Amino acid sequence: MPAKIKKVSDEELEVQRQFAHKVNELTSKRYSSKPLACVVTYGCQQNVADSEHIKGMLEAMGYGFTEERTEAKLIIFNTCAVREHAEDRVFGNVGALKKYKLANPDVVIALCGCMMQQQHIAEKIKKSFPFVDLVFGTHVVYKVPELIYSALTKNRRVFELPDVDGVIAEGIPVKRDNDKKAWIPIMYGCNNFCSYCIVPYVRGRERSREVEDVVAEFKSLVDDGYKEITLLGQNVNSYGKDLEPKVSFSELLCMLNELDGDFRIRFMTSHPKDCTKELIETMAECDKVATHLHLPFQSGNDRVLKAMNRSYTREKYLSLINYAKELMGDELSITSDIIVGFPGETYEEFCDTKSLVEEIKATSLFTFIYSARKGTPAAEMDDPVPYEEKSKWMRELLALQERISGEQMALHKGKVFKCFVYGKGKQGDNYLAARTDGNLIIEFVGDEGLIGTFQKIKVTEPLTYVMLGELERNDL
Ligand code: SF4
Repeated sequence: MPAKIKKVSDEELEVQRQFAHKVNELTSKRYSSKPLACVVTYGCQQNVADSEHIKGMLEAMGYGFTEERTEAKLIIFNTCAVREHAEDRVFGNVGALKKYKLANPDVVIALCGCMMQQQHIAEKIKKSFPFVDLVFGTHVVYKVPELIYSALTKNRRVFELPDVDGVIAEGIPVKRDNDKKAWIPIMYGCNNFCSYCIVPYVRGRERSREVEDVVAEFKSLVDDGYKEITLLGQNVNSYGKDLEPKVSFSELLCMLNELDGDFRIRFMTSHPKDCTKELIETMAECDKVATHLHLPFQSGNDRVLKAMNRSYTREKYLSLINYAKELMGDELSITSDIIVGFPGETYEEFCDTKSLVEEIKATSLFTFIYSARKGTPAAEMDDPVPYEEKSKWMRELLALQERISGEQMALHKGKVFKCFVYGKGKQGDNYLAARTDGNLIIEFVGDEGLIGTFQKIKVTEPLTYVMLGELERNDL
């Protein structure tokens, strides 16, 4: 690993294990029964993965878990900074804890995640939410035992928000939310500085985990029976550029694909700028890599893309999609993210986004009205289009995608898919939900014992965003 990437040392991790032990001793004297922690996660899968590590450390400190905030001795909100709406929700939910904290002063309230890494937010928490005991940033998650110990023993509030480029901590405990489906962060941070995005400011520069560490974690998950494993990074296509020797993301996928076992590899998120033909070829060739490409294009207009600092054009994006379709045909499923109403975007430019949506035929889209993030260049740009107008554009986009999703689903009637059965369905009591290689959802009537297995399912009735199906003879 090159010197510029700071890996947390074994000595430091040992210090944290000792703090975990101290917390355990302290809480077993302080409470008559096992103390419970409530960890609430907002935002993306990276946050979900961070929360799983936080829970792993809490478990090592002797905490059990509850979903009920009023049963908890420790409440942690792991926050998201991507949109204003998410931040408002956090402030609302934290505010609602004030009474509980006043009535139960021994409860520790902690806030962490991307939102806290912004200085103006941390200041607001300091001033307006005096009942919050602990605030920590994205770069010190591995220090949770020490921070909780400080919050429990020191008679003052603890704020730990170093502004660094980020570190990598290997070997911290993890408590996964699911026993068949798992997330593995393979890299952290982002170097792209898209003009609307706060992530590079709160998650630091790109840094990749060593190949051996990723492969070892992946292998142990497969050995433990995990079936769907998603590789995570803000920009997975940049994986390995900072390693010595360099390794490409495609090479990593090929290594994982070679491991023994029946499992499926997913990944997110890909940036079109760094998405290569090599990656698309790898997806087509590796049987365990899902044929689902989540490739956010954000806008279909080149002027807007430039203002967003996305570093690709509509043409380049389309050439990638067309190449992927050429190699994977019907098996490919495309999803994307779109921002509606970027500052200065005109209706004509928005229409270019709609025409791109028509062209790529995504199975689904994640669409957002632009939300200004303080400290980003886009937040300083003129933004003359009123929110109501942007909402109207959004409705047009949603109607368009609803039609396209319906058409895409209809093409699958009668087809049989190898699916991972991931849980209970929503169509009725006996329904289970399963995911195809291309990330489409099929619900079917089946026994709960099938959850966590791969099954062949035939599509009987495609709806707009979900398909109904029936179990086929299983010879998987
Ligand atoms: S690639 Fe762009 S949008 Fe994605 S995290 Fe990095 S800066 Fe944000």
